[in-house]
Amino acid sequence: MTAIEYVGFRILRLLRKLPINILGIGNRKVIFADFFKDFDKVEVVKGIFGEKTSEVLSHLTVEFSWIFGYMYVDGSDGHLVISKNYLNNGDKTDIYLDLIHELCHVKQFMEGKELFDPKYDYVDRPTEIEAYRYCVQEAKRLGLSDERIGCYLRTEWMSENDFEKLAKSVNVQLDKTSL
Ligand SMILES: [Zn+2]
Repeated sequence: MTAIEYVGFRILRLLRKLPINILGIGNRKVIFADFFKDFDKVEVVKGIFGEKTSEVLSHLTVEFSWIFGYMYVDGSDGHLVISKNYLNNGDKTDIYLDLIHELCHVKQFMEGKELFDPKYDYVDRPTEIEAYRYCVQEAKRLGLSDERIGCYLRTEWMSENDFEKLAKSVNVQLDKTSL
């Protein structure tokens, strides 16, 4: 098994699903630790929550919703909202890294930080940079190349300048020839 296959295998195990049908019509709420197994054993997640890791993950509510997009932390009560379509059809590595990113926002919310502070542009916002640092740290530990991590960081709504700025903030080397 190649390193990347192994990464995919490990991530799939982390994302293995309980026998509940998340594709039902309504929104569905579950507890994070019941649906996403063994995240409390992931070093980077322990780095986010410290000794409270298991406690936080066994209380965190996850809502599966028909929202357009990916996932986000609800700024009213700090629960995690995940697009059903993304969870079913998105790239598993991207989903895994997004979960790490959003768990960092969960911690920030618990600390009373303003998650969507409009004073900053998205790529300059300290809460975003911290969240990206955690998921890039995990991506590198899993052995993903800077090129692959660059693909992950690039989103359709981010300008080229912002993308390069973000990559620089989180120490991802972009190969200029392939941009
Ligand atoms: Zn974020």
